[in-house]
Amino acid sequence: MAHVDLRLLDETLNATGQPAFRARQVWRWAARGATGYEAMTDLPAGLRDRLAAEVPFSSLALEREARSADGTVKALFRTGDGRAVEAVLMRYRDGRRSVCVSSQSGCPLTCTFCATGTMKFGRNLTASEILDQVLHFRRIEPVDHLVFMGMGEPMMNLDHVLDASRRLPEVGITHRRTGISTVGWVPGIRRLTESDLPIRLALSLHAPEDALRTQIMPVNDRYPLEEVLAACAEHYERRRRQVFVEYLMLAGVNDAPPQARRLAELLDPRIYKVNLIPYNPTGTGYEGSSRAAIATFRAVLEEHGLRATVRLTCGQDIDAACGQLAARAA
Ligand code: SAH
Repeated sequence: MAHVDLRLLDETLNATGQPAFRARQVWRWAARGATGYEAMTDLPAGLRDRLAAEVPFSSLALEREARSADGTVKALFRTGDGRAVEAVLMRYRDGRRSVCVSSQSGCPLTCTFCATGTMKFGRNLTASEILDQVLHFRRIEPVDHLVFMGMGEPMMNLDHVLDASRRLPEVGITHRRTGISTVGWVPGIRRLTESDLPIRLALSLHAPEDALRTQIMPVNDRYPLEEVLAACAEHYERRRRQVFVEYLMLAGVNDAPPQARRLAELLDPRIYKVNLIPYNPTGTGYEGSSRAAIATFRAVLEEHGLRATVRLTCGQDIDAACGQLAARAA
């Protein structure tokens, strides 16, 4: 759990006859950025040595770390069974420190523009493996925001995603500053609506009509636009929090002004705020839209009363787009 493997930690503590509060003690140290058991000075020295010998401090091994000129840090890890996991720390000028984590190694969905979608699916990550990505960066500096926008579809691993999220406030990340991004996996959206955690919902939309969306996101066949948007509207009605729509800007594919008008017709401005995402080229054959095309697209949305911002790009010099490091290391 530190994010030592929780079960192994509990077993080891039980075997040594430790009081029940020890596991919490270990976790609290880890959540505040401790670099190992030796730093946990309120644990008996013998126990620290024993834990160091028997319970690995992280469920992930760091394989590579890349630092961008803009401050972005991207890490590539391996799980105990050799699966690739990537996570990114984004540092913003206003002081925000946002961690982007993976929920799966690889992804079973096959969005055609996404580097992760071209990899083989590995498996769901455990709650410990999710938290260990965060703790890696927490050991570098305090962090306050988190998005599930790394590899994988978080709604297909929602139990572990929510288990990990429950512990985030102790690391410094409130639920309101936590976001889950989804392709529109409807059962997951509904479960998030029902959950007790006020986590932000973000929807990767990327196209304003079914035919195009199915072409670039095959999952749209299973959960078409109307059903996805109905689930998001229900989420808004129940939770009273705006849903963020992510819209990747692909040159000549989804970036024409009529497509912006269509998008504006589709989205109720009370419910949605749009984030236009400049595409990070990944060798999948797509090109990103020009700055001018993005600006025009945004202007059309705003003319229709829909709030739209252009996402800052981070870490382009270090292949920070979804799946890029892992796809190259695979
Ligand atoms: N499966 C979830 C979360 C992971 S992807 C989802 O699809 O929302 C997180 C975001 O990164 C998605 O909006 C995805 O479409 C986007 N993305 C994927 N590849 C990208 C790339 N090369 N450049 C920019 N954004 C990308």
